[in-house]
Amino acid sequence: MPERIKHKPLDIDKVKPLKAEIHIITDQCKGCGYCIQFCPKQVLEESEEINARGVHPPKIVDESKCIICSFCTAVCPDFAIYTTEKKCAEGC
Ligand code: SF4
Ligand code: SF4
Repeated sequence: MPERIKHKPLDIDKVKPLKAEIHIITDQCKGCGYCIQFCPKQVLEESEEINARGVHPPKIVDESKCIICSFCTAVCPDFAIYTTEKKCAEGC
């Protein structure tokens, strides 16, 4: 815990972390690897698969580590990846 945070938030036990669903539009990916490189939680890695553009798109390593920061979406030049919050029926 960073030094500046002296105490845990009082409601920390009541707050449920959001569960992410990561969507990769595989054939739209150009294999630049930005999403893999810049994900702060190391959620993605290069897959073995070759897509319609002849490159290796990313694959999900551990979706439960995703914090829905949408950084992957922001850095993707081809709009090939985005995340949503899992619906309660699937995620809760
Ligand atoms: S939303 Fe954030 S944590 Fe989740 S895969 Fe994208 S960059 Fe990683
Ligand atoms: S940033 Fe976009 S185009 Fe680049 S590897 Fe990731 S999904 Fe593919």
